[in-house]
Formats: sequence, C-alpha cells, structure tokens
Amino acid sequence: MVIAIDGPSGSGKSTVARRVAEKLGLRYLDTGAMYRAVTWWLLEQGVDLADRDRVAERTAQVPLVMGMDPKNPNVRVGEVDVTKVIRESRISTAVSAVATNLGVRAELVARQQEIARAGGVVIEGRDITTVVAPDAPVRVLLTASEQARLARRALELHGSDDAAAVEATRDQVVRRDADDSTVARFTEAADGVDVVDSSDLTLDETVDAVLAVVERRTGART
Ligand code: C5P
Repeated sequence: MVIAIDGPSGSGKSTVARRVAEKLGLRYLDTGAMYRAVTWWLLEQGVDLADRDRVAERTAQVPLVMGMDPKNPNVRVGEVDVTKVIRESRISTAVSAVATNLGVRAELVARQQEIARAGGVVIEGRDITTVVAPDAPVRVLLTASEQARLARRALELHGSDDAAAVEATRDQVVRRDADDSTVARFTEAADGVDVVDSSDLTLDETVDAVLAVVERRTGART
C-alpha cells in the first residue's frame, strides 16, 4: 500500500499524513523534511545555494537517513539528528532555492521512489501524486484556503493568529508556495487525484476524509 498526499504549506498535510499512517499501520515519509535536511547540510558546509551545479553535486552525496515511524518521525544527516533544526525559519526561507534545483529534485525523487517501491508507506509532499508515485492506489491533494493556511502556520510559529502573526508568516506560506510551484504542480489535482479541502474541517475530520478516500479507492476497511 502506498498513499500519496500533496498540498501547499499550511494545508495540514504533515499532521494528517502522520495520523493516517499511524491509523493504518504504515510508515510515514515527510519529503519536505528531506529538502529541508539537504538545505541544512549545504548551509552547514558553506555551499553557495545559487551555485546550481555544486548544490546538485553535493546533494548526490548527502548521508540522509529518514526515520519513518509515524509516532516518532526523525531525520538524520550522518550522525546528526536534524529533526528540530530543519524547522527553523532560516531553513524555511532558504529551502525553495534548493528544491527548485532540478538536480536536487532528481536525486531526492529517486530516493523517495526507492522507499515507495518497498511499499507500506504514506508519502507526503508537493509532487508525490504526480512525479514520485503517480501509480499509487490512493492519491490525495489536500488543499485549504490561503486564509486558513496562514492562520494555521501563524498559530504554529507564533502561537497566535492575530494580524501581526499572520503577516509575519506570509513569506513562509505565500512566497514559498509561489516559488515551489515553479517546479511542482500542487494547486490543482492531476487526473485521478482526490481533493480534500480542509479549510472548514477540524484535524480529525480531515483525517476521516482522507481515510474515506482510502476506503473508496482500495475497498479496505479503515
Ligand atoms: O512541506 P514542507 O514545508 O516541510 O516542505 C519544505 C520545502 O520542501 C517546500 O517549500 C518545497 O520547496 C520543498 N518540497 C518539494 N517537494 C516535495 C516536498 C517539499 O519541493 N515533495
């Protein structure tokens, strides 16, 4: 079983994908964390992110290890646990520059496809339903209005969704999605992809909506 979930930032896809994986006894792969970890590693080594060839070349050697237990997902680069540090805003700000490098994408997509081939996994990102696992039996695009996404990220990052917090979050949601959508189409569903709009749903309701898609597409009782 492979479940592919795509969506923009703030759509809730990480939390939803984790919950779905936990519920169905599957592994959980956060592909955004892979792009973030590569970004962290390149910055750590002082690589100029604008140097496309060097960035791609270094990425081919990144000793990235993804911990895919949905109860405790973690990311290591070599011996370093980077699970927390890759969430810092300096990484969020820089990650699109790395993710729009086509050499980086080729490398990470190949690693993601290897994990998909082994099966038993919920994979979440921007190009999973279209590029990484277009043949997955379940493919979901999780959307939410810009307003809902901004409010969620503001709460997550600043503990508030007042006007100032929302403004401070805008770069991390709107600008990043605009940059990211130059290389991956995740605002419209590709053929055969089910859309779940979470704007007016609670987390539990969103998880249930995704599980309903799994039942409908596979006939499995969830
Ligand atoms: O999902 P998250 O916000 O952690 O993703 C971080 C970044 O990784 C995105 O802004 C995007 O640049 C990149 N990404 C991607 N393709 C994916 C997943 C993430 O380009 N499948």
